[in-house]
Amino acid sequence: MRYLPVFLDLQTGLVALVGQGELARAKLRVLVAAGARIRWHTTDGAHDVQGLEPAQLARIEFAKSDPLAADLTGVVAVFCAGAGDVGVAMSARAKSVGLPVNVMDDLAHSTFIFPAIVDRGDVVVAIGTGGTSPVVARRVREKIEAVLPARIGDLAKFIGRFRKSIHARIPEMPLRRRFWERVIDGPIGALVLSGHKDDAEAALDKIADASAFASGKAQGHVTLVGAGPGDPDLLTIKALRALSDADVVFYDELVSPEILDRIRRDARRVPVGRRVGKPGIGQDAINQLMIDAAQSGQRAVRLKGGDAFVFGRGGEEVEAVRQAGVSYSVVPGITAAVGAAAQFEVPLTFRRKALRISFLTAHKADDADLVDWSTLTDTQMTVVVYMGMTAAPSVRDGLLAAGRSPETPVGVFASVTRPDAKAAVGTLEQLPDLVASVDGPAILIIGDVVAHSAPWRRQNINLTLSDILEAAQ
Ligand code: SAH
Repeated sequence: MRYLPVFLDLQTGLVALVGQGELARAKLRVLVAAGARIRWHTTDGAHDVQGLEPAQLARIEFAKSDPLAADLTGVVAVFCAGAGDVGVAMSARAKSVGLPVNVMDDLAHSTFIFPAIVDRGDVVVAIGTGGTSPVVARRVREKIEAVLPARIGDLAKFIGRFRKSIHARIPEMPLRRRFWERVIDGPIGALVLSGHKDDAEAALDKIADASAFASGKAQGHVTLVGAGPGDPDLLTIKALRALSDADVVFYDELVSPEILDRIRRDARRVPVGRRVGKPGIGQDAINQLMIDAAQSGQRAVRLKGGDAFVFGRGGEEVEAVRQAGVSYSVVPGITAAVGAAAQFEVPLTFRRKALRISFLTAHKADDADLVDWSTLTDTQMTVVVYMGMTAAPSVRDGLLAAGRSPETPVGVFASVTRPDAKAAVGTLEQLPDLVASVDGPAILIIGDVVAHSAPWRRQNINLTLSDILEAAQ
């Protein structure tokens, strides 16, 4: 490490910027965003402020003097951007009076370099590559942006506000550290990160005995996480964070192995879904496992295929956890219908043609008997059926009897977003045959929008081709 990352206090003085053009203006924007007051010297004396906002201009002092002769009293750092030879000369001048200087893209004349920055308010991450590769620094920044919660700065500020009073209540340093760890990793931290600062403050105020809180058992938490339809890259950033923080994960059979791979290595993994041919442990038992884990201080994740609140029994689980007084949060996932829509280009709505969507389930033929098909005959409605493979003949019969056209386009989309994804498209009349031609978990999409899908377009090209070939014979 040749360059030591340090944080410069911009409240203590002015920064001098030397240069002009877009390079100088870009640097001005960064410095203003960081809260700097700037004295701006251009090399030709003209200040082109094109594209700068009034609020930005208010922080800039327009210097008329020659930067090489200007008074540097009160200046804490010198930046040169788009300054040409003047930048090099300015660098020598700054060095001679012991001021830190950066000349953009000129390592040889800089005494400090400008990092790539992740800015979350009070939490700032600076990334440097010793000036070797700004592109690598930017890539690292993107990765850090993705894993840092958006409100991490709020969390730091929140703790900052209470530091003094907690210091007075817990004089011993190690215990005090444990106190803050409990706060950050527990429900209070989760409240701040989800934007509920007032609730977090109320919870912190309620801690009567701070030392007992710090030395007591950690408070557990349940996070209901939607795993999406299979492709691990479709996990949300929040889902990924929950998986990498978990102590224990209770998962369903629909969750793909690639997603289970994202769980923290030393977390316990507990399958709780139905296995092929074997019943699951039952909803009550699952609820109890989650509650027990959280009450023993663990961070439990309940990982479900798609979204927990779309035919995922997430509602019941939240109710059970809430009644047990356990803290919880819910992370949405991409539901199978939306995954299928993206992968196979089925626009679930279409301007003027498809204005409504119905998601329904028809697990068994008798579920299908419960559906009032007459509410689903509107041709402007896209109908999506979950768990509808075995009941497909009843779905078709119900819709036809209610008056939906046998020519209505339908698609069966199986194992969507997984490597073995498959689609079969045709008409409502053909639905049971289409279902028989695929396997794996599948959804049915019924409605005119299916005629816009990629498999439909491909099939019709093939049909047209075979018509042409037939006609040619
Ligand atoms: N909560 C889940 C649905 C669970 S119900 C979600 O939001 O997607 C289980 C049904 O979901 C399956 O029978 C099937 O109809 C559908 N499903 C789940 N994953 C799927 C996938 N990868 N491809 C197609 N359908 C899927």
